[in-house]
Amino acid sequence: MLLKIEDLHTNYGAIHALKGISLEVNEGEIVCLIGSNGAGKTTLVNSIVGIVKSSSGKITFDGKDITHVPAHAMTKAGIGISPEGREVFPELTVEENLRIGAFIVKDQNQIKESYERVYALFPRLKERTTQLAGTLSGGEQQMLAVGRALMSNPKMILLDEPSLGLAPNFVEMIFGMIEKINKQGVTVLLIEQNANMALQVSQRAYVLENGLVSMSGKASDIANDPMVKKAYLGMA
Ligand code: ATP
Repeated sequence: MLLKIEDLHTNYGAIHALKGISLEVNEGEIVCLIGSNGAGKTTLVNSIVGIVKSSSGKITFDGKDITHVPAHAMTKAGIGISPEGREVFPELTVEENLRIGAFIVKDQNQIKESYERVYALFPRLKERTTQLAGTLSGGEQQMLAVGRALMSNPKMILLDEPSLGLAPNFVEMIFGMIEKINKQGVTVLLIEQNANMALQVSQRAYVLENGLVSMSGKASDIANDPMVKKAYLGMA
């Protein structure tokens, strides 16, 4: 098991946003987390990566307790993050943005290999190495955010709403990339509102409701569940 979350609670003042979340991600898997607005998905991501402080519970990654590891040390721990809203540096070029993702890597050859790997996955970025990130289209910025998360050669990447606001052809492309990245050996934890696509690419899924896991299992079983169909897949 690569990531294990045990009974995680997170509060924002009086608001009890996570009410005891437990979940696991095994090495090599794509696991998705679906849930409606306000279910606690972003809070869970931010609690995992140390942006938000959890009140209790335990998070283990790759055999190490990372419950209290701060956000800036996540890359070193082996987790690459593509945050919600992408958050690329608009005034920096594509190449400079990618370089930031490799800030912990000292070996120049390894950095070169990472660039090549990202450019092979996203040829559109290769054509735009000197373009300012702020002038990229939304889909290209999303590619850059995912590419940046890969630059440190992480064991796991955490993708927060990678398809948000993208045109349908970019959505397809991003999910195709996620599968490709996973086939290269990277474990993926995917947070998505697009439950339909997320369940198609994932092996397992967790449904989050009101700060709790309401359902978990094989993604294909979750996709066939009548309640999930009605609430998340827009089927009657
Ligand atoms: P969405 O899909 O809309 O982004 P989500 O599933 O990611 O939703 P969260 O953003 O994690 O949900 O929010 C979970 C709950 O915590 C919500 O009730 C939200 O209002 C509350 N919350 C989130 N951030 C804060 C904050 N900084 N201060 C107070 N309450 C917050």
